[in-house]
Amino acid sequence: MILQDWWYTTLLDLPYPFQAPLCEAIKADALVVGAGAAGLAAALRLSESGVKDVVLIDRNICGGSSTGRSAGFLTPDSELELSQLVRRYGAEGAKDTWECAVRGIERMVSVVKDHGLECDLQIQDSLFVGNDAGGWKDAQEELEARRLLGYPQTIIPASDIPKVLGSDQYTGAVRYPGTYGINGLRYAQSVKNVLLQRGVRIYEATTALSLQDHTVRTHKGSITADQILFCLDKPSKDISPYEEDVYHAQTFLSISEPLSDQEVARLFPDGPLLCWDSDLVYTYWRLTGDQRLLVGGGSMMSTFSRNYRAKPDVMEGVIARFKAKFPFLKNLSFIQFWPGLIDCTRDLMPTIVREPDRPWVHWVLGCVGLPWATFCGDFAARHAFQSECQDDHRFYQYFAHARGFLVPTWLEPLMGKQLVFSLNNGWAKYFQVDKGKKAARYTPGEF
Ligand SMILES: Cc1cc2nc3c(=O)[nH]c(=O)nc-3n(C[C@H](O)[C@H](O)[C@H](O)COP(=O)(O)OP(=O)(O)OC[C@H]3O[C@@H](n4cnc5c(N)ncnc54)[C@H](O)[C@@H]3O)c2cc1C
Repeated sequence: MILQDWWYTTLLDLPYPFQAPLCEAIKADALVVGAGAAGLAAALRLSESGVKDVVLIDRNICGGSSTGRSAGFLTPDSELELSQLVRRYGAEGAKDTWECAVRGIERMVSVVKDHGLECDLQIQDSLFVGNDAGGWKDAQEELEARRLLGYPQTIIPASDIPKVLGSDQYTGAVRYPGTYGINGLRYAQSVKNVLLQRGVRIYEATTALSLQDHTVRTHKGSITADQILFCLDKPSKDISPYEEDVYHAQTFLSISEPLSDQEVARLFPDGPLLCWDSDLVYTYWRLTGDQRLLVGGGSMMSTFSRNYRAKPDVMEGVIARFKAKFPFLKNLSFIQFWPGLIDCTRDLMPTIVREPDRPWVHWVLGCVGLPWATFCGDFAARHAFQSECQDDHRFYQYFAHARGFLVPTWLEPLMGKQLVFSLNNGWAKYFQVDKGKKAARYTPGEF
């Protein structure tokens, strides 16, 4: 198993050329910095909304960071399960926040369909499986939350699991529709092509180094724009006043040799599913269009580590645990693995900021999941040129910058960023309860 991101291999037959770096000073109506799911969604929205001159830059290639490393599960579940959202926000708030991610999925799927993008979009139901007695309880809590909010689902007791998954070692599951698998890197590069056709100027391998007034400087050029939307990851202090609000969680992925038709039928007797289990550091798996198995996961020790782990040891442990559940796959070879650092905030909800003192500067930060990133990029773009958009204002309370956190950032110098984030993340997942709406926490003029 070699250290390599499989999705790059799948790019080789796409005819969309690399967009050369920026080497001059240019002007634009809107600049989007960062071309992951969020930045692409922002650029798409701007180009559809009649903004004439849109520029998009990325220090890598479009989709080259988390978006192009991801497992491509398009489900509203991200780090926060629906039952956890219900506990935290109550039924109405849980529905609001879940719907943000649902809108993100709908947006991505409609872009793929409207433009005929070839990015291996697979319609696959989600299957959340319980690993033990606690896992079965978790599955039932998800069921209750989905029932409360009126979402369709099927509960699958342990005895029926072999009808949908080739294992008799799970304690129960919840299955629900409206979810998809996608190749995130091909999606990003295909959206790049759509944007180019719309006249958006795109510069890859172009890093935003500094921001002064309306001008972003890069290594060999600059862009001066009326509105500037930062949809970047791993922000540095040099460019972002919000660096301390973002950290990351590490996860690993691996890809197998293609499965035979018999193996696929045994693994997914009722058709392919997007699966993840109830462990704290969960294992997740799905099938690609060419019948490769994508398995992901991690370990407690590596989740909050600062740097990418290049060794295969964590992934080998995940694969061993996976194969113990599916012994008939014991000889399946996994050919590549890669790590990824998923940006997140302290409470695992994204943050969107329109700077009160520089209202032309927007930040989309810490989106966990492609659907959330797509929703947030789209949201920021809609608000860059308009003040009243759809019914958005009710959503903003959940990701306003000044929402409360358990452990404040001023304790970071004492405790360290890793500990502050792991405590806050755990609190948000398992204990946090927000009482009432938080309109008072808006900074006037933000949105
Ligand atoms: C291994 C792995 C598996 C995952 N699996 C899933 C999954 O199955 N489903 C799911 O929904 N989510 C998954 N995620 C999470 C998901 O990929 C991210 O939450 C999502 O892609 C975030 O999108 P984004 O646009 O906010 O950030 P990114 O995709 O990270 O995009 C930010 C972009 O900004 C660019 N950038 C950064 N700094 C600068 C700068 N100074 N100048 C210019 N450009 C800059 C980067 O190069 C990057 O392209 C996974 C992530 C990983 C790592």
